[in-house]
Amino acid sequence: MTIQPQTARMSVPFVDLHAQYASIESEVNLAIKKVLERGDFILGQALEQFEADFAKFIGTEFAIGVDSGMSALMLALRGLKIGPGDEVITSANTFIATALTISGVGATPVLVDVDPETYTLDLEKLERAITPKTKAIMPVHLFGHPEDMDPIMAMAKRHNLFVIEDACQSHGATYKGKTTGTFGDAAAYSFYPAKNLGAYGDGGMIVTSDPELRESIQLLRNYGQTAKYHHAVQGYNNRLDTLQAAVLKVKLQYLAGWNAARRSHADLYGQLLRGSGVELPPQMPEVEPVWHLYAIRTDHRDALRDFLAERGISTGIHYPIPIHMQPAYQDLGLKEGDFPVAERDALRMLSLPMYAELTDEQIEYVAAAIHEFGGIHGTADTRLSAD
Ligand SMILES: *Cc1c(COP(=O)(O)O)cnc(C)c1O
Repeated sequence: MTIQPQTARMSVPFVDLHAQYASIESEVNLAIKKVLERGDFILGQALEQFEADFAKFIGTEFAIGVDSGMSALMLALRGLKIGPGDEVITSANTFIATALTISGVGATPVLVDVDPETYTLDLEKLERAITPKTKAIMPVHLFGHPEDMDPIMAMAKRHNLFVIEDACQSHGATYKGKTTGTFGDAAAYSFYPAKNLGAYGDGGMIVTSDPELRESIQLLRNYGQTAKYHHAVQGYNNRLDTLQAAVLKVKLQYLAGWNAARRSHADLYGQLLRGSGVELPPQMPEVEPVWHLYAIRTDHRDALRDFLAERGISTGIHYPIPIHMQPAYQDLGLKEGDFPVAERDALRMLSLPMYAELTDEQIEYVAAAIHEFGGIHGTADTRLSAD
């Protein structure tokens, strides 16, 4: 059989930031103009308002705006006085920034493999990784799917550990009816443009309900300054720009709707991909993910990726090289084989286009192409498609 080279009928980008801007253009432009007119570019009015709105949205007492998700995690660690000599346990399958924040404050990142069924932290391995040096657990709600927070919080309590949630991909996701970011001592959010809530540049947020931690993070993000030119601690400059806060404040009003759209896209992908031979992203009971990414798994990942690209469909790989295999982390002394699930996922996972403005027609086109690939490569699961 010769396979006819297909011309792409449609273009399906991986994310489409233009489509979102087009839908809110006049409101965003007005918000930016107001900041330009007020001129309060640093720690201005829109930042304070956005912090209040965001804390309310998540359900914590406080939110502190910072300049990136990575800064948010680092200041949460610093605020909890975690540093050299301490260990912080996190997932072997996450964006490298998670681990970089731990080493960035001088502590040691201790990686734990994920559960082969759920992508979430393997709880047995997590408990075994705890040592007398462990100060905190940093669960990652990867792809917008919550970690199994009840057992993690119970474990943290038993061992007297802090919990800092890496919620950089999970703005609004819920676990047993409670919003992620409200479980730990603190949680960190990223407003990188492509995140579920994205700025027009870098941005981040720490949420907490602990007034002391809030205060120390507020100091740390602003040179440790208590009053102008009075410095209580050795801080940094990690503030969220007022301009970005003004944009984010507008966008936050739409976030619940955008997350709902992502959920309905995930449902449609799930229905249409049955029997196509790819493994669908798992979802634990009693969670509402926000589908920052929709990652399928297949043994034919790279071939499928090329096949989709020829049809105008862009995909992503999250993440192609696990953290412990990166040159940056040679000093951890880890090797191939140490985290078999994360390593296997790195070879098999493929993220499909996912953003709120995606249309049903585009999703149908992507799903049809995956079925077509399955038919040609004999990977389609006829048993499933028959039922
Ligand atoms: C995006 C991201 C970060 C870092 O956020 P930045 O704003 O890019 O610094 C950290 N952890 C995870 C899981 C992320 O996805």
